[in-house]
Amino acid sequence: MPTASQGIESQASNGSGLDTFTSVTCPFCGLHCDDLEVRNSSGADAGHLTIARNGCERAARGFERRPPPSSPQIGGRDTDLATALATAARLIGGARLPLYGGLGTDVEGVRAIMALADRSGGVVDHHLSAAIQRNMGVLQTQGWIMSTLTETRNRADLVIVVASDLMTLHPRFFERIVAPAEAMFGGVPSDRTVVLVGDCGHADAITRTGVKHVVEIPSANDDIPVVLGVLRSMLKGTQLPARDDQRVPFNELADLALRCKRAEYGVFVWAPQALAFRDGDLAVQIVTDIVRDINKTTRFAGLSLGGNDGAASAASVCSWQSGYPLRVSFASGAPDYDPYRYDIRRMLEAGEGDLLVWTASFDPEAAPPATGLPLIALATPGMRFSREPDVLIPVGTPGLDHSGRLVRCDSVVSLPLRQLRPSRLASVTEIANAIAASL
Ligand code: SF4
Repeated sequence: MPTASQGIESQASNGSGLDTFTSVTCPFCGLHCDDLEVRNSSGADAGHLTIARNGCERAARGFERRPPPSSPQIGGRDTDLATALATAARLIGGARLPLYGGLGTDVEGVRAIMALADRSGGVVDHHLSAAIQRNMGVLQTQGWIMSTLTETRNRADLVIVVASDLMTLHPRFFERIVAPAEAMFGGVPSDRTVVLVGDCGHADAITRTGVKHVVEIPSANDDIPVVLGVLRSMLKGTQLPARDDQRVPFNELADLALRCKRAEYGVFVWAPQALAFRDGDLAVQIVTDIVRDINKTTRFAGLSLGGNDGAASAASVCSWQSGYPLRVSFASGAPDYDPYRYDIRRMLEAGEGDLLVWTASFDPEAAPPATGLPLIALATPGMRFSREPDVLIPVGTPGLDHSGRLVRCDSVVSLPLRQLRPSRLASVTEIANAIAASL
């Protein structure tokens, strides 16, 4: 049975009642910046964290949130943890097809939930799997040439952002990767240029991060596949008929094609979560095609910035443990991969499954979809549900309430997370393991 977390190891104490932690990894988006300085108050405000250096608004919302007091509940009534665990184990043990959704947790948490799903013949799916699938379909069918955050920071002279508001989804991407104070191999190229294709948020906000050259190519998101198709044709030298087409900015695309040909290391960047428009997966495919074409004459790569809410960790762990990417069922006794069939939202709408087990340890907004099925929620305190879960077990946030590990969005490194405050909240790992032990 999980116990209250043990004490924390403070890196520094400045004698003012504040514990200060340096080089803190942020768990609140897939970049996992590891340069934050975070303070933990003491006395009456003990446990309240504030960001002293670096960070961003998104990180502040996560670190500085004051979670309300919480207790395990059954049907909306407070209970003790042992009773909640026993009830959850009974529901899972009696289910024929439990659905394990959300999956907003760290590497160890996903491992524990997957072990539970394996044991109980369930289905696992992250709540951002639709975004993952926009990439995965392309990777599986034709492969791709990808960069990493580090390689982009050190080498890129042209960064083309495709229909993604990165200042909202990954706020420090431009500050840390495109306009860093320093980079290897002679520093940041002085002519490093960012081209924004489609709806990428406000260019002013990007300029304020230190990016010197920003070019905008406006386009409606639904037209992005067409716009990228025209760019690809231009790069291949196809003679396009002269057209007066409001949807396609021909002149700007001709200029971009020229920039691409002249670039020494170009990178197409997108956040798959942002490509939730018609044929968003086609946009990923065309970008991948362009990158492959252009590598015949110069160096180009893609860079996908996903991984929010632990999605990169969930995708990696699912691959390590089952041999397949996300959306896997263990109902047959062996892992069965099907990204359409095991979409838990689709399954709920189709009346499939008989129990929903929802995990959300980072974001109180990441609530489960409305369902008439029995619901077990392992959730960060403060989450609002469309109805009371049958069993609610509050859990700590990795990197704040307990230590852990998260895979970065470029999937080449995992970052360690530290416990920053004493916490009575157990981790998803502890809860899932305790339930499994009672099955
Ligand atoms: S950009 Fe992402 S990882 Fe970096 S501080 Fe902001 S929320 Fe955290």
